[in-house]
Amino acid sequence: MALRVLHAASECAPLVKTGGLADVVGALPGVLAAEGVEARVLLPGYPAVMEALGATEELPIPTGLDRELTGGPARLLSAEAAGISLLILDAPARFTREGGIYETAGRDWPDNAYRFGAFSRLAALIAAEGVGGWQPDLLHAHDWQTGLAPYYLMLAGRPRPAVMTIHNISYQGLFPPAVIRPLGLPEAEFTPDGYEYWGEVGFLKAGLMAADAITTVSPGYAREILTPAFGMGLEGVLQARAGDLSGILNGADTAVWDPATDPLIAAPYTAVEGKGANRKALVARFGLEDGPGPLLGVVSRLTRQKGIDLLLAALPSFLDMGGRFVLLGSGEASLEAAVTAAAAGSPRRAGVFIGYDEALSHLVYAGSDAIAVPSRFEPCGLTQLYALRYGAAPVVARTGGLGDTVIDANPAALGAGVATGFVHRAGDPDDLAHALARLTAAHADAASWSRITANAMRHPVDWDESAAAYAALYRRLVG
Ligand code: ADP
Repeated sequence: MALRVLHAASECAPLVKTGGLADVVGALPGVLAAEGVEARVLLPGYPAVMEALGATEELPIPTGLDRELTGGPARLLSAEAAGISLLILDAPARFTREGGIYETAGRDWPDNAYRFGAFSRLAALIAAEGVGGWQPDLLHAHDWQTGLAPYYLMLAGRPRPAVMTIHNISYQGLFPPAVIRPLGLPEAEFTPDGYEYWGEVGFLKAGLMAADAITTVSPGYAREILTPAFGMGLEGVLQARAGDLSGILNGADTAVWDPATDPLIAAPYTAVEGKGANRKALVARFGLEDGPGPLLGVVSRLTRQKGIDLLLAALPSFLDMGGRFVLLGSGEASLEAAVTAAAAGSPRRAGVFIGYDEALSHLVYAGSDAIAVPSRFEPCGLTQLYALRYGAAPVVARTGGLGDTVIDANPAALGAGVATGFVHRAGDPDDLAHALARLTAAHADAASWSRITANAMRHPVDWDESAAAYAALYRRLVG
């Protein structure tokens, strides 16, 4: 019989997405099916999710999810969308609102502890008791929004095992102690050895304490988060649980991200020589004047993590060498202003689109010769995987999953014929400028360039190995 897994997550592509978490949760059910795992995804009933549902079936909501948490009436719905079997917590008082799913106008929703507390509570109840005749063998919780789910399951006596996956440890879900009682957490455990994080309630920390296994999204990040420089204060908790921690690399959904069939690009292609029409469309879209140098693209949230400020420091010399630059991104106002100002300084060579645009992101990967990911830290990173798949050489910082997925075009790798991109020291604008100079030189040498980009397109970015790794972990825990 198939192993049954309940995924609890706040995002799931293509229904609701703010970042890579959504891509991963959206891909896992499909890739796990091939491993004999039957997965369902529990999602909050955000407006975008509710609108995407076709027929729904209402299931009896487990007792134990009280109104104080849901803020009013709540329903549990079962539905299919985008080929994914979904369970939805439809709690309008918590999830039916305009604005972002975590914040509005740059401020976190004041009831986030209750929104995601209710969601986590429901996940634990379904894991423990099943619903509508469906009993999961295991709970898989993703990121801080579901950190309390393994914790509630632990309080219920661990009826099923739980996996907690860290997609980004810099988002921890921290709330004032006033939420302890409404959330039904044991006050005695509000200590540094429990779920307290420096005077606050830590949702992710609770999940890390309680889960039977902890995973993160690359082997590199699994090592890094054990250190103070990357652990964001949770390195001690993780060190204590190091034996239960592993890194399983994210993959790309190769059905969605396929340059041979992608309906969102200007012209499909199967080899890098076929990118020309897409470059032309991309250059036109950003109103640039084309030239022979490499076109460097960025698709990114604009936060300090992503290191776009470092890239801006290296940009003038790259443009002077004949490069072109396009950026699609949104996020912090100061970074939006900085990238806009940088592009305005070279309007024919650099262009910026501020906003979130899934369709345009596909054209950026298809039309660019290279994709920059200069992150200060990067748990896995998906944009470099899409870049590889679309024959755009990734220019990445050596950190987390970036270092695990890109092979630098150094003399040894070039000699062995395995280079796929350009890797620089994280947080170092000079080394980044040097990588862009190496990119420019390699691009000018047709033979070298076609080797690097052909290697990139051949590099496996699918889920096969990682889906097998998750399935093996689940089987070990279920026993
Ligand atoms: P993170 O989850 O930290 O944002 P990842 O690289 O794991 O970083 O995932 C980012 C995902 O979000 C990718 O699918 C990327 O294409 C997408 N993305 C980021 N910014 C934008 C944007 N402005 N428009 C469209 N897609 C975007």
